[in-house]
Amino acid sequence: NYPQSDLLKSLPKQFFASLTAKVGEKLEQGHDVINLGQGNPDMPTPEHIVKSLQSAADNPQNHKYSPFQGFPYLKKAAADFYKREFDVELNPETEIAILFGGKAGLVEIPQCLLNPGDSILVPDPGYPDYWSGVALAKAKMVTMPLREENNFLPVYNELSADQLNAAKLMFLNYPNNPTGAVANQDFFQETVDLSRSHGICIIHDFAYGGIGFDGIKPESFLQAEGAKEVGIEIYTLSKTFNMAGWRVGFAAGNESVITALNLMQDHLYVSLFGAVQEAAAAALSGPQDCVKELNSIYESRRNSFISGLREIGWDVQAPKGSFFAWLKVPEQFTSEEFADYLLDKAHIAVAPGIGFGDFGEGYVRAGLLTSEDRLKEAVARIQKLNLF
Ligand code: PLP
Repeated sequence: NYPQSDLLKSLPKQFFASLTAKVGEKLEQGHDVINLGQGNPDMPTPEHIVKSLQSAADNPQNHKYSPFQGFPYLKKAAADFYKREFDVELNPETEIAILFGGKAGLVEIPQCLLNPGDSILVPDPGYPDYWSGVALAKAKMVTMPLREENNFLPVYNELSADQLNAAKLMFLNYPNNPTGAVANQDFFQETVDLSRSHGICIIHDFAYGGIGFDGIKPESFLQAEGAKEVGIEIYTLSKTFNMAGWRVGFAAGNESVITALNLMQDHLYVSLFGAVQEAAAAALSGPQDCVKELNSIYESRRNSFISGLREIGWDVQAPKGSFFAWLKVPEQFTSEEFADYLLDKAHIAVAPGIGFGDFGEGYVRAGLLTSEDRLKEAVARIQKLNLF
């Protein structure tokens, strides 16, 4: 038995592992679990993208190592996508880095830019993989509370001058996991200005960039004036194109950060399977109706779920983007107790808010990742608990 390194032991526990185990137990006991706990898109990848992968996999050129840092055609497809979707100009060679999914970039960036002990601003609640990036870089995490009364945006003047001056990096994520909040250009512009005053590199995680409701098209951080000078945006194909298992995304923006990420990735991976790169280019360059259709499916699920919960007396807010509903827990429970209660009594899995940080306490996260009928069934099961 070889002991684990101190670095490995310092990594935060993967809290989804315990949720998956609990759900697995219920399934083994033969219960019909409605799993709203995880963030795994339930619909298939659009056919034209799968077909592109299939034919690209037949090409022997793609059986070799891809060039370091990926194929130029994929970087160009990513740059063209940003121009078309957000009117943002990017140089494909210097301002785009291809990634093994957004997660790889998010986790690698602190190691690319920080030294041990350097300070990172991280939203709370937030996507737990930011913590892994902090731990791997042996950096120091300073949390920024996201509160409902501020539309789940951080309030920068709550941070002290010392915290701001010490911070080297800041993570942001809109549309937001877990709260479903969105951000607009005023907020992004304020962020760019803050970054300029304090020299903080901004990493905007745009994982849900393709999913907005009520006519909201999620805005890119790179649309803010001067954004490219102060940070990058991480875009993934996982959610927008239902490609979570394919592991492909890209970083876009500040040239020095892109160079650092590329250098790190040269050491870690060479690059992605060529056929996945071809299919990713097909997704970014091809027809975008699939994205609109997906959006309207999520919106219709959201409408049905949220109005159903309101009808049974649960006072919940509707997410504006992403595919998560962030639901206030009845006062008698902690978020973990309530998640356990729903799983035990109604066989519904949700993620306890505390799993996303201290400011997640008091909420649970439900993914709109099953059919409308199943979501209606979930509402009916909750109604039977007579909680509201
Ligand atoms: N960022 C957020 C906020 C997410 O919710 C996820 C996935 O759930 C990711 C990043 C990572 O996505 P991927 O690694 O599949 O690109």
